[in-house]
Amino acid sequence: MEKERFLESFIGGIENLPTLPGIAIKILEAVQKNEPDIDEISNIISTDPPLSAKVLRLVNSSFYNLPSKITSVHHSINMLGLNAVKNIALGFSLVNNYQKKQSNGFDYTSFWKNSLIGAVSAKLLTEKLNPEFLDNAFFMGLLQNIGTLTLGHCMPAQYHLVVSEMAKANSECQHAEEYILGYNHQEIGEYLMKSWGLPETLYMPVGYHHSPEKLASTQSSIQVLTRILHLSSLFIDLFDDKSGGLNLWLINHSIEAYGFGAHTDVDQIAQDIHQQARQVFPIFEIDLKDDAEYAQIFQAAKAELSKLSTEMVNTLLAHKNEIKMLKQQVVRDGMTHLINHQHFLELLSQEVSRAERYKHTLSLLMADIDHFKAVNDDFGHLAGDRVIKAVAGCLTQEIRESDHVGRYGGEEFAIILPDTQSQDAYIVAERIRKAIASLRIKHEDNLIQFTMSFGIASYQTEEKTASDKLIKRADSALYQAKKNGRNRCCVFDSA
Ligand code: GH3
Ligand code: MG
Ligand code: MG
Repeated sequence: MEKERFLESFIGGIENLPTLPGIAIKILEAVQKNEPDIDEISNIISTDPPLSAKVLRLVNSSFYNLPSKITSVHHSINMLGLNAVKNIALGFSLVNNYQKKQSNGFDYTSFWKNSLIGAVSAKLLTEKLNPEFLDNAFFMGLLQNIGTLTLGHCMPAQYHLVVSEMAKANSECQHAEEYILGYNHQEIGEYLMKSWGLPETLYMPVGYHHSPEKLASTQSSIQVLTRILHLSSLFIDLFDDKSGGLNLWLINHSIEAYGFGAHTDVDQIAQDIHQQARQVFPIFEIDLKDDAEYAQIFQAAKAELSKLSTEMVNTLLAHKNEIKMLKQQVVRDGMTHLINHQHFLELLSQEVSRAERYKHTLSLLMADIDHFKAVNDDFGHLAGDRVIKAVAGCLTQEIRESDHVGRYGGEEFAIILPDTQSQDAYIVAERIRKAIASLRIKHEDNLIQFTMSFGIASYQTEEKTASDKLIKRADSALYQAKKNGRNRCCVFDSA
């Protein structure tokens, strides 16, 4: 619940969140009726000729290996079942909708390339390991990283920071996401799919595909699908040439740990995934790498695996975990996922040294919620927490990617604006103040409104203002703003 509320306030701030294409909504509505009407659903799909052509091409490919040629959508539903065809159609319409190469720096082609490998491997693994869940497998595999698409599509600047953090710290994407943004693509994907009205058996596995050990659900279908999706995510990395030997070790190890061991030859699975990908990629109009390139990738991964001793694997895994723990716990506030007090002070002193070195300026904003005690008193502590999280989301949305926002205390926040002089900082603070004042936080039957006061102080090149002095000044400006009636911004004035 906690996580969900945080995501709600955060995601609420994202503009143009990915939506399901119109046709997908129609399909879902028709499927969700008490007694879904096969004619109606095949009509919906058939009204979109390119879509129905793709569905037919896929069901007739050796990917499904059906005994006879399927000639209509209706026929394919009879052969494969409603759920399977629905999932295929949803998959096509989603890929089609988010394939445009925009100039926001997000690589849509490589995203879908990886996701399709995920879809093919999820289907293949399910077929081999638990065929009864086959209907959901392809679609679930395809959507596993929809949270990443959301970030790249809607928040390209922050997404870019995540990518550079991954490169810098050699960390896994979900750790980098948590470090930079405070949440990861699994949580976003789960939230989004839930909001689309997709079933639990689809969104829960997506929510835990990198950390199946954290899944709390006791429903066995969800557990199995989550494990399969975890394996599928490891195959994505294998095909994407990421951490080869260790990754192969993880695949072997997970297959065994999940009790899938008896049926599985990993090398054969990789070959089969490749084989099936060859069938499926052209139908989605996505190019696969050259066969030789894949052969080389698998070969290199195997060679690396053979050189890994158990000891080395343990060291590598421990190192990964250590980085993750350190990064998450040391710098973030557990409730808002913003930088915590201590880390904020460190960043401030780094930024001040930088300003000094390059003879730049820098501004510090201190911000405090007005009459916050009254929010707690009138609506309860939970509502108060919710307000604090909404403020965190709003501040994060309003600042640039080079700025830093931290939770300085209970209902007090601080923002570093590098290379920004006080007049400009005042403009930023005013913009944030207005954004905060326009927030309406839903709590039970109430819409909570509130305001914030801001104090601003700037680094003075001539006197080389130290960071503690800067804090004192911003604090004193904040005090002034409170004294002058709250819901306002004051710039520190030595007079
Ligand atoms: P002012 O306009 O002068 O800032 O008034 P205020 O009521 O906001 O200030 P005050 O410092 O008197 O009260 C702050 C309150 O914030 C008191 C404290 O219980 C509450 N608070 C601090 N941290 C949290 C939190 O994490 N959750 C909730 N719900 N309340 C918190
Ligand atoms: Mg993922
Ligand atoms: Mg206050």
